[in-house]
Amino acid sequence: MGQTRNTRQRQLVLEAVRARMDHPSADEIYLDARQRDGRISRGTVYRNLNILAECGEITHVKAPAADRYDLRSEPHYHMYCLGCGRVFDAPMPYRPDFDHQVAEETGFEIRGHQTIFEGLCPACRKRAEQFES
Ligand SMILES: [Zn+2]
Ligand SMILES: [Zn+2]
Repeated sequence: MGQTRNTRQRQLVLEAVRARMDHPSADEIYLDARQRDGRISRGTVYRNLNILAECGEITHVKAPAADRYDLRSEPHYHMYCLGCGRVFDAPMPYRPDFDHQVAEETGFEIRGHQTIFEGLCPACRKRAEQFES
């Protein structure tokens, strides 16, 4: 396996993440990547997702149930629906002051924080209400 192949596969995985707005899981990315290159393995996709997240090209969202990947690389918050398992971006600015405050009080070198709001998305709320009435 040469360097060119590695680069090409990484690019393919990156494109698969960027093609989706819905915070896909590693498995969903794998299925998309397979559409583009039938020979790509699950291990290759997972490894490249980790590398891309480590170098800040994409965000690794540690959602309940399954890890998700996000084409947005700048820090932001998420909402997780307990009904359908979908992950959404929360319309709330990132709070770097939280990082500074914790770093100052603990001496910890803070590199960031992730916040996931949990609840029901509007579609699942509607479904739950219909079920109740
Ligand atoms: Zn939902
Ligand atoms: Zn996001």
